[in-house]
Amino acid sequence: MPNRMLKFVNLDLKMPDKRAAATRREDFDEIYQEFDPAKAAGQASRCSQCGVPFCQVHCPLHNNIPDWLMLTAEGRLEEAYELAQSTNNFPEICGRICPQDRLCEGNCVIEQAGHGTVTIGSIERYITETAWDRGWVKPVKPLRELAASVGIIGAGPAGLAAAEQLRRRGYQVTVYDRYDRAGGLLIYGIPNFKLEKDVVERRNALIAEAGVTYKLNFEVGRDATLEELRQRHDALLVATGVYRARDIKLPGAGLGNVFAAMDYLSASNRKGLGDAVPAFDDGTLDAQGKQVVVIGGGDTAMDCVRTAVRQGAKSVKCLYRRDRHNMPGSQREVSHAEEEGVEFVWLSAPEAFLGDQVVSGVRAVRVHLGVPDSSGRQTPQLVPDSSFTVEADMAIKALGFDPEDLPKLFGEPELGVTRWGTISIDYKTLMSNLDGVFAAGDIVRGASLVVWAVRDGRDAADQIDRYIQAKATGETVASVAAE
Ligand SMILES: Cc1cc2nc3c(=O)[nH]c(=O)nc-3n(C[C@H](O)[C@H](O)[C@H](O)COP(=O)(O)OP(=O)(O)OC[C@H]3O[C@@H](n4cnc5c(N)ncnc54)[C@H](O)[C@@H]3O)c2cc1C
Ligand code: SF4
Repeated sequence: MPNRMLKFVNLDLKMPDKRAAATRREDFDEIYQEFDPAKAAGQASRCSQCGVPFCQVHCPLHNNIPDWLMLTAEGRLEEAYELAQSTNNFPEICGRICPQDRLCEGNCVIEQAGHGTVTIGSIERYITETAWDRGWVKPVKPLRELAASVGIIGAGPAGLAAAEQLRRRGYQVTVYDRYDRAGGLLIYGIPNFKLEKDVVERRNALIAEAGVTYKLNFEVGRDATLEELRQRHDALLVATGVYRARDIKLPGAGLGNVFAAMDYLSASNRKGLGDAVPAFDDGTLDAQGKQVVVIGGGDTAMDCVRTAVRQGAKSVKCLYRRDRHNMPGSQREVSHAEEEGVEFVWLSAPEAFLGDQVVSGVRAVRVHLGVPDSSGRQTPQLVPDSSFTVEADMAIKALGFDPEDLPKLFGEPELGVTRWGTISIDYKTLMSNLDGVFAAGDIVRGASLVVWAVRDGRDAADQIDRYIQAKATGETVASVAAE
């Protein structure tokens, strides 16, 4: 495993010169220049130890950031690592891919005072990568083995965080996943340039070493019903994420080279993992030399445009119906995309995909933002007679994700879901309406963030432990939850 290098500032990629000089893919890695401990200590010592740790409050895991910054500044890295890993199962992953501008760093008082945030995410990554390099990262070792077993459906960050926490307590844990690799969207969604896959696979191996059993290529609904798994385990956790891509029903949607974001991104990730991907190798899902138009304004859209840049697209445009200020994605991601040469076509709603057999353009119409709706967001209104066409050889739809129909998929019509299709849970016990069936991550929140999935997985592990212990002593779960 090569030493992961630390980088404190964003890439200095100015288009078009650097892009022209870059070869495909490799030259655009988001990451890592020479790792320099003095720089890390210097950066960590910028923390003013302000006493009102807004960074910690705004980290979903409430990481003890001020203390591990202080330890890093003092060169006490092993202690810094111990502290960082005590609240986070995947600190080097969150350090890489949390939208820190919306979480810890965005709330740093130094940032608020206009002096630029302490680069908390980079330091979290640095501390943990140092720990890996120096052999401080060890598989969890339960103090005693318990007979009770827990089945976890979904090997994404929510399922894996729960698996590790439950294993720590001695439970026998089996994780079921329909993919061929564990990691969920860490492997097949988030692009390589933001999160290298060996970093995820290293964690998967550590969790297996701790004694968690993976059953991969195992789809609940196809290979077992939910009820069958309930019979097999003392408790179940559903952490299946959200995978039903939102679609736009536009004329021409059936043309060639119009793709869903996950098809495009997972082909690129599989390629990065060394898999044979015929649809990429024959050029279909490769953006090289193409005029790419991505529709959408969230983080998935940003991942698509930035992947297309790295694949050597001729041009990359992002069509979004609101303006920059109203984009749901991280502003940092948008700035990175702009630096890399992506052109944003704000206030534009697609009307049709144009072309004969394959797409040759996207017709869009100008949008005006009207009065705010009940959610406070301004409603997009189409400007009459303002249609225009953007040329495209490849169009990617990145409009977000909804849950699949889990009661149907799992063969369990009694499983309670919300009107959005997410699993309904009791927010104290994190249990669904089915006794002993818990849920965590995106399948409860809707599409969210890795750090929230980790938080949910850890909380679910606590509640599953309480549930199983309460059952063993004959208590009711409700009385446990009310403690
Ligand atoms: C393209 C993209 C980029 C993103 N980038 C970021 C980012 O930069 N930073 C960030 O914080 N968040 C990002 N996110 C969001 C983040 O990846 C998710 O919020 C997070 O992965 C949710 O974790 P999860 O464990 O709930 O679900 P997932 O990671 O989706 O994992 C769910 C797992 O369940 C499995 N599964 C589903 N159904 C079944 C079944 N029936 N049987 C067996 N297994 C099943 C799936 O195969 C999958 O492995 C991104 C999301 C996408 C789509
Ligand atoms: S987990 Fe995310 S939000 Fe929390 S400190 Fe790390 S980078 Fe910041």
